[in-house]
Amino acid sequence: MASFDQLSAAQIAAGVANGDFTAVEVARAALDAVGARDGEVKAFLQVSADLALEAAEKTDKARAAGEKLGPLAGVPVAFKDNMNLVGTRTTCASRMLANYESPYTATCVQRMLDAGATPVGKTNMDEFAFGSSTESSAFHPTANPWDTARVPGGSSGGSAAAVAAGEVTVSLGSDTGGSIRQPASLCGVVGMKPTYGAVSRYGVVAFGSSLDQAGPFGRSVEDVALAMNALTAGGSDPWDSTSQLVDVDFLAHLNDSIEGRRVGIVPALMEAAGLTDEVRDAVIAAGRALQDQGAELVEVDLPNIASAIAAYYVIAPCEAFSNLARFDGVRYGYQEQGCATLAEQTSLSRAHGFGEEAKRRQMLGAYLLSSGTYDKYYYPAQQVRTLITADYARAYEQCDVILMPAAPRTAFKFGELSDPTQMYASDLFTISNNIVGNGGVSVPLGLGAQSGLPVSAQLQGPAFADDRLLTFARAIERSFSPDGGAPVAPAFAGKGGELA
Ligand code: GLN
Repeated sequence: MASFDQLSAAQIAAGVANGDFTAVEVARAALDAVGARDGEVKAFLQVSADLALEAAEKTDKARAAGEKLGPLAGVPVAFKDNMNLVGTRTTCASRMLANYESPYTATCVQRMLDAGATPVGKTNMDEFAFGSSTESSAFHPTANPWDTARVPGGSSGGSAAAVAAGEVTVSLGSDTGGSIRQPASLCGVVGMKPTYGAVSRYGVVAFGSSLDQAGPFGRSVEDVALAMNALTAGGSDPWDSTSQLVDVDFLAHLNDSIEGRRVGIVPALMEAAGLTDEVRDAVIAAGRALQDQGAELVEVDLPNIASAIAAYYVIAPCEAFSNLARFDGVRYGYQEQGCATLAEQTSLSRAHGFGEEAKRRQMLGAYLLSSGTYDKYYYPAQQVRTLITADYARAYEQCDVILMPAAPRTAFKFGELSDPTQMYASDLFTISNNIVGNGGVSVPLGLGAQSGLPVSAQLQGPAFADDRLLTFARAIERSFSPDGGAPVAPAFAGKGGELA
């Protein structure tokens, strides 16, 4: 039989349920693929072979006992390393948490396991999710499976690369300003940031608590829909008071016609500085594909969106500064030894535990929240947030979804964006949705005509219209990935991973 990377999540779950293969066989195939491919990709920080086989055996036993299996039965899944999973470390790709053993399991992770998924391991990321390239990991960078001299995007770069390289079928990431959608775009996979509150944040190490949201990556829209069903099953989570009941079957309307529905285009965004012609042309082609399927394109305006990055880089560092204060080497994290005083210990633990970007964010947050500057920056940033929220609300009176790029350009080379503000601009198209709290999904459009690298479009929608986003994403997929999903990056396809 072929490699497991040729199968969708639904096909794996069905194959396990029908007895075509066992969950243990799939788990072994995924571990074999990781062994054959990850030396080059380096998507993983830990491979949890024991947990994977244990979960798979449990699935096979349940089948033998005649129990009904979950919708992700036997599906190999990876988790970003800011998500707690008992039996693994949760390092956030930081020296600070290099030895931190997960004391409990995050709700989003647990829900994937409850649906029958097989946990293959924890994936690399920018340290504490600060970044857009996965280069700021304290351990090692991750390579883009389409060109290993290039970054996979970030901060959930390991999760995107693991799916693009066919090491797992589905993975989870977190998105505070674009960290699911931007790496999905650079790696040519589907990545969804659900509406804030749709997925519990409990057990996901906090970066910006009013912005953070966990969500899935997959090679097809259907795989992402299956994961969304698992993540929202069981209703709101009592451990995250911002989580809400999402009583939606994400598969139910996946193949609905989009005839007569309205797709918003923001002309100013299509002319944004930094957007390459290649990506712009591909997004225009995606709009045409939606038109061909009967949708109407309408121009909408988001007049304050140009201020989104500035507002984000006030709000996010402020929240990060408060959230990361707990890593003081006493309550949590790396502890410097041999210090004469507690003050010295705290100071050196933080100085040596955090990398450069994590320090930059916290120093910025400390400054922005200090008296005097608070009124000058933090309040206006929150006011901009209100204005952008109102802009979107007005836009969605005229359209069902908005189509725009996910990332301004294709994957860049390691070290190419050395100025932090250049890196911040990678999230030009994604940040506004975190500020507002709405959902967004990145959909692959094949390979760019000039670069030969993956290009994507992004669909954004009103709050809790995430199932609608997937309907439109599926419509794009019908045109751009007629085989039902994006391919595994060719250099890695079928390398190991044979289903016995
Ligand atoms: N790149 C953005 C940042 O560095 C977003 C990161 C994220 O979504 N976690 O803050």
